[in-house]
Order: sequence, then C-alpha cells, then structure tokens
Amino acid sequence: MDLARIVADIGAEMAAAPDRGAVADYIPELGAVDPAHFGMAIVTADGAEVHTGDAATPFSIQSISKVFTLALALGRLGDQLWARVGREPSGLAFNSILQLESEHGIPRNPFINAGALVTTDAILAGHAPREALGEILRFIRAAAGDDDIHINPAVAQSEQDTGDRNLALAHFMRAHGNMKNPPALTCGTYFHQCAIEMTCLQLARAGRFLMGGTDTPTLVSPERVRRLNALMMTCGHYNGSGEFAFRVGLPGKSGVGGGILAIVPGCASIAVWSPGLDQNGNSQLGTLAVERLVHATGWSVFS
Ligand code: GLU
Repeated sequence: MDLARIVADIGAEMAAAPDRGAVADYIPELGAVDPAHFGMAIVTADGAEVHTGDAATPFSIQSISKVFTLALALGRLGDQLWARVGREPSGLAFNSILQLESEHGIPRNPFINAGALVTTDAILAGHAPREALGEILRFIRAAAGDDDIHINPAVAQSEQDTGDRNLALAHFMRAHGNMKNPPALTCGTYFHQCAIEMTCLQLARAGRFLMGGTDTPTLVSPERVRRLNALMMTCGHYNGSGEFAFRVGLPGKSGVGGGILAIVPGCASIAVWSPGLDQNGNSQLGTLAVERLVHATGWSVFS
C-alpha cells in the first residue's frame, strides 16, 4: 500500500473541493479562520509519518481536548469517574441541557460539554486552574513528544465571554451535587483547555497512545485505551456520531475548530483539519478525507 500516494491524492481532492461547510462563528477567532485550509497527518504504529496540506499549521483543538482530559481524569480517579458521567451517546447537540434534568445532573457521556465539564472538574479537584491546565498541557505535550503546544489566550477569553451556556450546565450540575468546584473555576479551566492549539502533526503524534501496541507511549493502561476508543466511536462526533461510524468506522473525536483525531487500533493515529463544519458541527472535509482514507486503506475497524 502506497500511503504517501493515497494521502497526497486526498490532499489534492480536498484542496479543490467546492463545498467546504461553514466555519464556527460563535467567537471571532474561529469565525476569522480561512475555510480554504486543509491538513492531514498520519502516524503509523511503526513510527512512519505521512502528511499533506496544512499539516504544520496550528488550529484550535476545541473538543478534541476532551479525549486527553478524560484519559487524565481516569488516570487520576480511576473508575470512580463513572459515578459522575455516563457512557451513552446523547443524540442531542453537544451543549444540550435537556438530558441533565431527567438524569439528575449526570451527563450522558464525557464528550458532550456537560460531561467534559465533569471531567475537568475532577482534574481540578480543589487545585488552582493554572495547576490543572499545567497538568493538561503536560499530558498532551508528553503524548505528542513536543513541548511547543500552547493555549491561545484570545480564544480562551472569547470562550469565557460567550460561555454562559457552559456556566449554566455547570451550575445545574452543581445543584445536583455533580460539580465539586465553583462553576466559574471549572468553566474557566475548560475554556482554556478548548483554546489549546495544535498542528495535525502534533495531534496525530499525541494520539499514538490510543493506538495501543507495544511501540506507542503507554500513558494509560491497555484496558483504558480500549474503552477510550469505544467512547470515541459511540460519542466522539456529537449527534453525528452514528454517521461518522457509518461512513468511516473508526473511533474519532471532532472539535468545532474543524479538527478530527481518528484512531486505527494497533495501526495508525490520524489527525485532519478543515475548518468548515457540517450541520452537526463536525469538519465537513475532514470527515470526507478520513472516509476516503479508510476506503483506500481498508482501515475501518469493521473491515
Ligand atoms: N468550546 C466550545 C464550547 O464548549 C465548543 C467546543 C467543541 O464542541 O468543540 O462550547
């Protein structure tokens, strides 16, 4: 299989694609990103790296951060975390408050905003937000093997300025006893984790620990890797998770910055970025690119 050729062909197709979706515009920093960007990077289990397009351009990882904070929180708390957050797809928008009422402040899964707020709350655990953010950045930098990964302060500030809905989710969960720190602190930490910027190359490298296998960094136990992948498959694309599984058939996590991290267990870590989103808030061309890749390589877990 000529992976370099396959990836180059995908890059050429995506560069010329007419319908690129719409960039997120709830904050000016994301609204100003040029929808013409496309980047893809793949790291295989034997350490080979293949990339195309804007694979070295940093972008806002947004909700992809939720994979790393979940891994970190599980490492810290172990399975106790599951008393506070569920493991079922929500079928609702990423920021929905609807199920929190009927389910007594327990979010459906760790990849919707409410669930990610619980995860961040667990990492915070009485520490100063600065310390928790330092820990999150250390984890991601260790996973990527790269210290040049940072938070964009302007994005974090805009998240804060427009974050009423996340604050509402946190207050609602606190009313149910499922938010241990003051909502302003947990949300402040969460806004900053969403504002982390990475390139496709850094993100693909950071995803290596989710591949499993002997040569990849062992940041979490093999059993947790398996479970993280299961959650990415069932819940990683908001209420488009079923569609992503149907079209691509890989565990993946998207963010509204237009990034997707997808994992081929035992085989490869894939990062793709195209800022235009589809109606579910997932990267339109990013999804198409991973679909093309899986078609050409047979990498779907259902192949
Ligand atoms: N940071 C945004 C929020 O929490 C979006 C995160 C995302 O879904 O990628 O509302």
